[in-house]
Amino acid sequence: MDMIELKYRICMSCGSKCCRRFDYKTWYVQLNLHDIARIANGLREDVYDIVRKYVKILNHGKYIILTLKAVEGRCIFLTDRGCSIHSFKPIACRTYPVYIPGTYLDPECPLSRYPELLEEEIRNVEQYMREFYETRKILEEESPEKPEDIAKLVTKYIIRRS
Ligand code: SF4
Ligand code: SF4
Repeated sequence: MDMIELKYRICMSCGSKCCRRFDYKTWYVQLNLHDIARIANGLREDVYDIVRKYVKILNHGKYIILTLKAVEGRCIFLTDRGCSIHSFKPIACRTYPVYIPGTYLDPECPLSRYPELLEEEIRNVEQYMREFYETRKILEEESPEKPEDIAKLVTKYIIRRS
């Protein structure tokens, strides 16, 4: 069995635990502005519609955090067949179970017992960090409040510049 097959089997037998534990205190999937642009592109939908339908804005005092919405603790993109946006899922999902800055594995995840399977997730940490700090700077400077504000930032800083 190759590594991809083994990973797939481990995730299937785990039942997507990491996609079912959203409580917005101890667990959520943080989004950056690039993630939102990629999801809009992948679903071929307007950026504003994506933000309105799928993005939750958390105000953590000093910081605004963008996260995926969930329904009864399940990520809004989780289906019976797994992640419905797998090929363009958020970079946070593409690094998990590697925690930033890349030196700690979430013991809740069965894959953490197989670090040799996590090369791709470890490689993705650099992209995560770059996009995280860029987004944080923009959110601090612009202080968006509403979905339309977030959509405007995605268009201004990510789509128009790419
Ligand atoms: S990444 Fe870990 S917690 Fe998530 S589905 Fe796979 S094995 Fe389960
Ligand atoms: S986007 Fe996909 S991988 Fe990420 S939490 Fe949602 S269902 Fe899981």
